[in-house]
Amino acid sequence: MGNVLKQDLLQQLEQLQQEAEVALAQANSSEATQAWHGEYLGRKGRLTGILRNLGSLSAEERPLVGKAANEVKMTLENVLQERQAAIAKAEMEGARSRERIDVTLPGRPQTLGRLHPTSITLREIYAIFAAMGFQVYDSPEVETDEYNFQLLNMPQGHPARDMWDTFYTTTPDLLLRTHTSPGQIHAMREYAPEPIRVILPGKVYRYEQVTARSESMFYQVEGLAVGKHITFCDLKGVLTNFANQIYGEGRPMRFRKSYFPFTEPSVEMDIECVICGGKGCGLCKYAGWLEILGAGMVHPIVLQYGGYDPSEFSGFAFGMGPDRIALQKYGIDDIRYFFANDVRLLERIG
Ligand SMILES: [Zn+2]
Repeated sequence: MGNVLKQDLLQQLEQLQQEAEVALAQANSSEATQAWHGEYLGRKGRLTGILRNLGSLSAEERPLVGKAANEVKMTLENVLQERQAAIAKAEMEGARSRERIDVTLPGRPQTLGRLHPTSITLREIYAIFAAMGFQVYDSPEVETDEYNFQLLNMPQGHPARDMWDTFYTTTPDLLLRTHTSPGQIHAMREYAPEPIRVILPGKVYRYEQVTARSESMFYQVEGLAVGKHITFCDLKGVLTNFANQIYGEGRPMRFRKSYFPFTEPSVEMDIECVICGGKGCGLCKYAGWLEILGAGMVHPIVLQYGGYDPSEFSGFAFGMGPDRIALQKYGIDDIRYFFANDVRLLERIG
């Protein structure tokens, strides 16, 4: 009786192994092999089911069948490992081929930023004046009426105020600066009675009709030198040196008398037209000359407002438009391009 059972169990084991191997060969995913393991080798699996009958065998037969069962178990575990490794490899290759990079696609162009023509010009101006000992001084874009006009020798009702159309705020006496000149007062009041050599760059605002030549917002660079024994010769020397460097050595230039309320005497500086060389063209309005800046000796009253004694100190000041200088240098005929946000302009210049 015991012998029959032993033979039966051995046969069951053999059959189990055969079926399990066939079933495993059909398992095509990690999930399927896990299910397979549960069915054949798990705690409630078929192998365990067969082994439950061991108790019915005699003491001699038991180790024999137990050994055979162990061998089946080990064989099946080995086959399972191999199968799992093969499936993992196949799954990885599948993922790799699905996510493969197509190297035949054209690359995306990299766009490289560059400086705005006004920024380029500003940096050139800073470098030229830095070499002559001028440092950059920052001052506010929102000003009081006092700083923008009164302390620059333009009291309330002064006719020269008509030269600047102004943006006023809803707060009385608070306005957007119409020029960088109020920075002169800030610098003087900070440094007096020390000598000063500064340039004051920044945005200024005019309530004006926007045209090819004028915007409601643009840049200015103001310059100021205050000290003892500063004369008109110093003004001419500094500005001639500047013009030689920014427009090229040897370009004809001239000073014309002019008027500003905060300088006396006042001048404007012209250079020979960069386009026509003096013959006359659209850019210079057929004058042959381009105005590049206004300048003059600081008015004694302005020196006094700044905290300097005009009997002891003197100084000169100048103001220029770097946007206009950039227009001339790059041969652009309309200042509105500078703020139109059209990248083609920048590409053309770069
Ligand atoms: Zn010209």
